[in-house]
Amino acid sequence: MGVKWFKKKRKNKKRITASENPDRTLTAEPAQADMSTQDVSEEKEAVAEASSEKIDAPSDSDSGGLFRRLKSGLAKTRTLLTTDIDALFTGKRKVDDDFLEELEEILITADIGVATSMELIAYITQKASKIKNAQQLKDVLKEKIITLIDIPSPDADVELNKPHVIMVIGVNGVGKTTSIGKLATKYKAEGKKVLIAAADTFRAAAIEQLVIWAEKAGVGIIKHRDNADPSAVAFDAVEAAMARNVDIVIVDTAGRLHTKVNLMQEIKKIKRTIAKKLPGAPHEVLLVLDATTGQNAISQTKQFHEALGVTGLVLAKLDGTARGGIVAPICSEQKIPLKYIGTGEKADDLEVFDPGRFVDALF
Ligand code: GDP
Ligand code: MG
Repeated sequence: MGVKWFKKKRKNKKRITASENPDRTLTAEPAQADMSTQDVSEEKEAVAEASSEKIDAPSDSDSGGLFRRLKSGLAKTRTLLTTDIDALFTGKRKVDDDFLEELEEILITADIGVATSMELIAYITQKASKIKNAQQLKDVLKEKIITLIDIPSPDADVELNKPHVIMVIGVNGVGKTTSIGKLATKYKAEGKKVLIAAADTFRAAAIEQLVIWAEKAGVGIIKHRDNADPSAVAFDAVEAAMARNVDIVIVDTAGRLHTKVNLMQEIKKIKRTIAKKLPGAPHEVLLVLDATTGQNAISQTKQFHEALGVTGLVLAKLDGTARGGIVAPICSEQKIPLKYIGTGEKADDLEVFDPGRFVDALF
């Protein structure tokens, strides 16, 4: 019965995905256009916030502290999932078609996505005879979600290359500059010599925001005047890093261009320019996504990956969103490892992503 139900659902869902999920057809260009009006004020706000903040040395970097922060960041998603799953079992219910349909809705509401939710439902259907209560259901869900999000990470050992070059990309407002500030702080605390490249040159405010982060982190920055060629900034940064014995170069990029140049073409050019100066670089291309944008993050991942070859993901703004389930489709659909999650606006609100811990925090 369960399997038949699942096949029937699958047919219906296919139609829904194509017609009712407009995110699928979004490109990076409209996404940038969407952001264009809020963009400048947001940037100003970010600068104001960054400058008023005190320097946050990673104080509770012990694993217990990190796990607490992850749990509090995911509190909204967890509340949503656990309350709804607990409620499913009120009145001695069995795992039948109606039950599965309600569960699927719960998963989709947490932004686990249609395709991934269907995969989970198929798995639950197989295990139905073993599921008698909410805890058993959560355990089975955890078991399957871990297999979906645990993507092996290609070797990004920062010790292998000197300088190790990391390019940071993503649409406007997702948290690139903030994540760079956090990463610089982390590497600096590990004793690395870090240099940041201000290759988002399209607004003076963007450069200014990065300067503030560099000062807070106590690392160097290479910047040109605004509207300079971003590739030239990246080139100079890599050259300076080679001359100054720097361990890690982190390159900020624009998420939207004010010129007619295509965003992807411009970022590809930055990537090629870096490789010209230092063959093999950039060693990492990190795509930053905003957890609060939900399913749109999936289409962004696809587009940036096709254009630039993303080596890892950073999922920012997981704090305070009820859409933490987005991690599952992001990892499983493109098979790109999620490396870091952002759980706040402060310098130490960045965590190395751990799939096991993540699902524990989720349920
Ligand atoms: P960019 O345009 O991609 O460089 O984005 P920014 O780094 O400027 O960030 C845009 C806004 O998101 C700023 O107000 C940041 O403070 C905020 N932000 C970035 N990361 C996080 C995060 O992990 N959690 C929260 N709550 N806010 C974040
Ligand atoms: Mg920025």
